[in-house]
Amino acid sequence: MSLPSDLATLTVAAAQDALRAGELSSVELTQGILDAIRAKNDALGAYLTVDAEGALRVAADADRRRKNGEDHDLLGIPIAIKDLINVTGQPCTCASKILQGYVAPYDATVIAHLREAGAVPCGRVNMDEFAMGASTEHSAYQITRNPAAPDRVPGGSSGGSACAVAGELALASLGTDTGGSIRQPASFCGCVGLKPSYGRVSRYGVTAFASSLDQVGPLTKTVEDAAILLRTIAGADPHDQTCLDRPVPDYRAAARAGSLRGVKIGVPREYFVEGTDPEVMAQVRHGIALAEKAGAEIHEISLPHTEYAIAVYYICATAEASANLARFDGIRYGYREVGPEPSIQSLYDLSRTHGFGPEVKRRILLGTYVLSSGYYDAYYNRALKARTLVRRDFLEAFRHVDAIFCPASPTPAFPLNSTVNNPLQAYLCDAFTIPANLAGICGISIPCGRTATLNLPVGLQILAPAFAEERLLSIAAACERELAS
Ligand code: GLN
Repeated sequence: MSLPSDLATLTVAAAQDALRAGELSSVELTQGILDAIRAKNDALGAYLTVDAEGALRVAADADRRRKNGEDHDLLGIPIAIKDLINVTGQPCTCASKILQGYVAPYDATVIAHLREAGAVPCGRVNMDEFAMGASTEHSAYQITRNPAAPDRVPGGSSGGSACAVAGELALASLGTDTGGSIRQPASFCGCVGLKPSYGRVSRYGVTAFASSLDQVGPLTKTVEDAAILLRTIAGADPHDQTCLDRPVPDYRAAARAGSLRGVKIGVPREYFVEGTDPEVMAQVRHGIALAEKAGAEIHEISLPHTEYAIAVYYICATAEASANLARFDGIRYGYREVGPEPSIQSLYDLSRTHGFGPEVKRRILLGTYVLSSGYYDAYYNRALKARTLVRRDFLEAFRHVDAIFCPASPTPAFPLNSTVNNPLQAYLCDAFTIPANLAGICGISIPCGRTATLNLPVGLQILAPAFAEERLLSIAAACERELAS
């Protein structure tokens, strides 16, 4: 195989082929990624911090492990990590001022799995503060640009993860998805983003936003690469009781064998309505037509409680966030501010008032409100009931179809600064990703052409039942092939 001069353009699978063939060392590959970061990060703002020295050390170790006969699909592969996943010795700020200077004292379980495989965590990528947002503009540190259209947002909250992969500053990255934060930025930037089923991947060592919704997943250039990463990070974890002890199949094999023949695809009518950009709809319909030509059966379906999903999510997620973020009190970690008349109360008040950004404070206030006595039943309890209805919609749909096809986002990437001061508008753009989190099912966004007028990436979202990642990856890989040909 002849290697490209810019090694950051490689897929994980191709880079591994070159490593296995001895055409490339992990140190060379990692240096190639560091060079790409140096050349492009000032313009794109994907990485917050890069640990060049540490990455080259792990890479050298991976080269030694290979010489000693070890082999793994991720051995020696550099991977960018969203800045809320703990990696020993590296900063973990969650893109928040309140965690400025915080250095992780331990590895998240997903990182422990990557290390065991020999992957190289190469840097921390930007995000919305505490993963709250859909544009990465809520980072306390910097703006991240969309590599496909630099005056536009990369999506969020895993915007740095998507930018790094699509902008070729990383081979692959890890992100998290609570209401769409992997799939939406993947669709905006034009890469693959996979949200595993709730309980598939450990959340230990991943800063919690909304614990009943959060999942870690990969952002990659291809479906096969997503399968490789998922296989490595998935599986039971004694440190996370929500992470189920189910076998981890060979997802890569499933992706490789991908086929659409006889697959029953449901197309929910609630996702093709006014409010969805017609050019996005046209691309997604084209993707569906290609799947049909490749042997899939298309069925119109209904997910009747879709319209409640956003309200339910912004009650449940903020309620959980208000509890999870109580630990950032100015005492245990990070930013601390003491007023002129020091007291414990002023320490809490000032540290939190100046440590958190406006979006995070909005969520904490909302969450505290919906949990407060007198409103608990009216909001939180009702939201839980409505969440069950959303979940049942999917259970019912999956009795008739194998997978659901729809847009990942109602719009393509929007211009920078267009939603930061309009939270409601920002919340509405999560309409198509949130339902999968509420239901705990798995979903993926794959690139599906570009909009006709502005040439912006469009993501086709594919949803499958909980723990049906093998099926999801098989269908997604087959679609990817059809869309490429
Ligand atoms: N955009 C959604 C929000 O702002 C989803 C975020 C996420 O998945 N972390 O909450």
